[in-house]
Amino acid sequence: MLKILLVPCLTDNYAYLVHEPSTNAVAIVDPSEAAPVLAALQTHGLKLTHILNTHHHFDHTGGNLPLKEATGARIIGPKADSDRIPGIDEGLGEGDTLTFGNAKARVFDIPAHTKGHIAFWFEADKAVFTGDTMFAIGCGRLFEGTPAQMWTSLSKLAALPADTRVYCGHEYTLSNGRFALTLEPNNKALQQRMVEVERLRAAKDPTIPTTLGLEMQTNPFLRPASAELRSTLGLQNADDVTVFAEIRRRKDVF
Ligand code: ZN
Ligand code: FE
Repeated sequence: MLKILLVPCLTDNYAYLVHEPSTNAVAIVDPSEAAPVLAALQTHGLKLTHILNTHHHFDHTGGNLPLKEATGARIIGPKADSDRIPGIDEGLGEGDTLTFGNAKARVFDIPAHTKGHIAFWFEADKAVFTGDTMFAIGCGRLFEGTPAQMWTSLSKLAALPADTRVYCGHEYTLSNGRFALTLEPNNKALQQRMVEVERLRAAKDPTIPTTLGLEMQTNPFLRPASAELRSTLGLQNADDVTVFAEIRRRKDVF
């Protein structure tokens, strides 16, 4: 089974060190910068073999070139944005499979935050890396796509099994949850979760990973069907994309 370690980077980014022990394949997902990744490799006595990027933003690829130079790791990222991924060796897209040691990840195209954005789903290990598309209790900003595209992207992730662990690009959970409570103040699962999130963040502990099951209960961007949420927005009879777009618009100014 894969071992997955959080590597905090910059102010609120997470890179993830993924170790496949049977072959000693070692990946870093979305390295914002090289130094904390090299330190984590040294601490755990690991040699980097793969760099996996979900999208081109600098806070997810800033470590690519120095890490490749230091370790010779192979860089894999979204095919649809391969011209914007520093040092890329291989572009992947919807339906492709990444072989990583004895593990396999299925790749989904999940655009809208950026034009090219992929998720890596390790089905056997029940883990998905979602970059800046799905956050704990949130979703990424729509820099290069439409609400309809983001809804389609999130719906692909929402279709995975409920016990899938979600590893996202940032620690935004506390502010995301405070926003979510403005939309669904009576959501019991959300209230309970926020007690735990407040406790974790007060101790400076990560709130990641989350699970898809928990996100389905508490993440407003996955809940346009919620009657309470629709009532808050005054959109009782709108379609899901319209509701999603209004949630995203409100979050942009929260
Ligand atoms: Zn981003
Ligand atoms: Fe980011």
